[in-house]
Amino acid sequence: MTASAEPRLTDIGPPHYEKYLHPLIKKNYGQWRYHENLAPGVYCHIAESGDRIYTVRAGTPRLLSIQTLRIFAGLADKYSGGYLRFTSRNNLEFLLDDPARIEPLKRELIALGYPVGGTNNAISNIVHTQGWIHCHSSATDASGLVKCVMDAVYDRFTHEDLPAKLRIAVACCLNMCGAVHCSDIAILGVHRLPPKIQPTLTKVCEVPTLIAACPTGAIRPATVDGKNSVAVVEQQCMYCGNCYTVCSAMPMNDADNDGLSIWVGGKVSNARSAPKFSKLAIPFLPNHPPRWPEVVEAVVKIVEVYAQHARKYERVGEWIERIGWPRFFQLTGFEFTRYHIDDFKHAALTYARSAHVRY
Ligand code: SF4
Ligand code: SF4
Repeated sequence: MTASAEPRLTDIGPPHYEKYLHPLIKKNYGQWRYHENLAPGVYCHIAESGDRIYTVRAGTPRLLSIQTLRIFAGLADKYSGGYLRFTSRNNLEFLLDDPARIEPLKRELIALGYPVGGTNNAISNIVHTQGWIHCHSSATDASGLVKCVMDAVYDRFTHEDLPAKLRIAVACCLNMCGAVHCSDIAILGVHRLPPKIQPTLTKVCEVPTLIAACPTGAIRPATVDGKNSVAVVEQQCMYCGNCYTVCSAMPMNDADNDGLSIWVGGKVSNARSAPKFSKLAIPFLPNHPPRWPEVVEAVVKIVEVYAQHARKYERVGEWIERIGWPRFFQLTGFEFTRYHIDDFKHAALTYARSAHVRY
């Protein structure tokens, strides 16, 4: 009989997160009492044991080159024992056990062009999706647009002078890989036309798979030039791009008709009021790269009006509910259109919805 072999590793997966925890976090795991805000972008967490850990937060462009990652890793080695992490909104956080290193780290980050801030009543980094750089179904870019918006609200990242925290999200199509459903201000790329069926469809795509890929049943079998093909019922298409994912002969992108919409008032927090879904503020803005001036102007307008009119600790959605939507449209100057009326046939359900988990 042969000796039994070593068990084979078939699913390696990610390493256990504990392996990368800062020693102080590991030591005090689950035993943190409270935190103090030392300055914009700088926190101190205090454990039951009295241990203190300091966090320095900086903004990043999210899409990072190897060179940039090496810079961040070098800073972590120099100041924070090699420990850093990325937040879900792509902020970079260095974890320090020595407060004397906070200021030198901040100085070096700022000199390299990475602003320190994004905590408390500031605008945090913008969580966003892949955009033109990576995703086939995007109606707009993501990181390029985020850069333009963050350039315009830079001081709101580095200063904590808003009524409450303000979270912005970008998703480049309605599939929404970003957090646009639950952010104070959300920018959402929109397609306005169904996919364009290409003559090559019958050569490159499997028709039954394509029909099955449509979540709304908008794709029907059709005969084109005597060959099996498909037709799209436009009224049933919600421009999700799922068909394009399985069939490259159904492209969605349209330089003239794709654009952006702006949504407001979402939040995940259940402080003061239940979590809320974002609601439509502007149904369509044109796609004007490389600086998207219309979108930047609209976001800045919402931020400024909110900063001026909201009460302390009021999130955007809470502020709008207090003053009423008509007043929001008056203050911002945005046009109220028929697209703001939710006439979806299940609207009765959507009116009553929040992001609150119910059992
Ligand atoms: Fe792709 Fe849409 Fe996700 Fe953007 S939001 S990355 S276009 S699926
Ligand atoms: Fe169906 Fe989505 Fe394709 Fe429209 S875009 S036809 S809804 S799969």
